[in-house]
Amino acid sequence: MSGRPKKGPMNKLAAPRGTADLYPPESAAWQALESDVRAIAHRFGYGEIRTPAFESTDLFVRGVGEATDIVEKEMYTFTDKGGRSLTLRPEWTAPVVRAVLEHNLLASGPLRLYYLGPIFRYERPQAGRLRQAHQFGVECFGFAGAEADVEAIALAYEVLRTHGLSVEVSLNSIGDECCRPRYRQALYDYFAPQRAALSLDSQRRLERNPLRILDSKAPEDQALLEAAPSTVELLCAECAGHFARVRALLDSIGVPYRLDARIVRGLDYYTRTVFEFISDDLGALATVCAGGRYDGLVASLGGPPTPGVGFAMGIERLMMILAKRDLERACARSGIAVMALGDGARERLVPLVAALRRNSGPVPVTIDYGAAKVAAQFRKADRANARAALIVGDDELAAGNAVLRDLATRAQDTIPLEPDDDAAAVRVLRWYAALPPQPAMRSQAAS
Ligand code: ATP
Ligand code: MG
Repeated sequence: MSGRPKKGPMNKLAAPRGTADLYPPESAAWQALESDVRAIAHRFGYGEIRTPAFESTDLFVRGVGEATDIVEKEMYTFTDKGGRSLTLRPEWTAPVVRAVLEHNLLASGPLRLYYLGPIFRYERPQAGRLRQAHQFGVECFGFAGAEADVEAIALAYEVLRTHGLSVEVSLNSIGDECCRPRYRQALYDYFAPQRAALSLDSQRRLERNPLRILDSKAPEDQALLEAAPSTVELLCAECAGHFARVRALLDSIGVPYRLDARIVRGLDYYTRTVFEFISDDLGALATVCAGGRYDGLVASLGGPPTPGVGFAMGIERLMMILAKRDLERACARSGIAVMALGDGARERLVPLVAALRRNSGPVPVTIDYGAAKVAAQFRKADRANARAALIVGDDELAAGNAVLRDLATRAQDTIPLEPDDDAAAVRVLRWYAALPPQPAMRSQAAS
């Protein structure tokens, strides 16, 4: 290659469609949310699991189900140089089960795991729908009783409640292998006479898996869906009992819910309880969190029959709801911007900055190594949301002083700088710690 790249759109490098870069200040809001969800999972006794970003394609075909949106049209599948078919993780549950079985983690009894990380789905990108998105979720293995369903729901509820969302959980039961065939038949009998009115996807699914029709988003299907038979009426006695117990336990711990016969979930592995948290802050893309019980999945992937229940929460959708408030939190001014006006001042300040960083705890300390004018440096510090500036020019250098300025209130002091850097740093940090609480925030990023 030779010469400089030509200017023009051909040479513009951009992130792939449906992906997003994350950088300050939003990345601080993400970090805060991530540490909140980790803390809540920890409090509920869940440990983190991390699995590879790609798996054998077969895992998802078997684990998620062939007639699902994910497997039919959303997977990022590629063949590697060894000729294996691999797929970027479109969801976490199947990989978690694969890992649990591979490492025999069920040997010591029930198991509680959480995950936090990216998923990849080839979707039409729009607000709250990306091709690389992020999910927080939990999986609880080994408990067949309704308590585990309620634990998962309560954990998700706690995350949303902690962030000030007042949401109720939408709840349904889709039965098990005992009542499912009856329900499938009822759906088939309902839809078959009106086949021609269904979307093409739904017509195809009528034969393969009529349950899938229920979560169709095609506009032409919506009217028919309204009057479709509901699972709850066709549950067997065991499933009906389980569902009643889920509701009673939710009442007992004070988690609000509503019944919603339309919720069947887009993945094949669910049995009995299915649930979603739907926020009206997001309009059409309202589901922030979705989950349910999957008692057949572990066995279907080759493990011992093991009940399981879990959920996945969309971090982007949650961030959209929280954006304003969390951005304000991230925009809180913090840190000291050190400004050297001239070469001599820079000589003096480089070791002082080192000492500040040794002593500053969580307070970030930055310095501009360039030769920008003081006004430009102030603008930069303001944009970076620094709380304070430490300025040394020729006069201060000669007098052994520094000017300290509170960028929030514009108040300013001059302090002597001890020749010993650590002593000087401690004096500066004491001044910083004594700054008044921040006045009402001016935040550009949140507006
Ligand atoms: P939808 O009906 O919105 O397509 P889904 O049934 O495919 O959702 P799940 O597979 O259950 O969703 O994923 C759980 C949660 O993960 C969703 O409720 C949503 O918050 C989030 N999520 C799923 N797919 C995406 C995506 N492409 N972009 C952003 N978030 C997503
Ligand atoms: Mg989807």
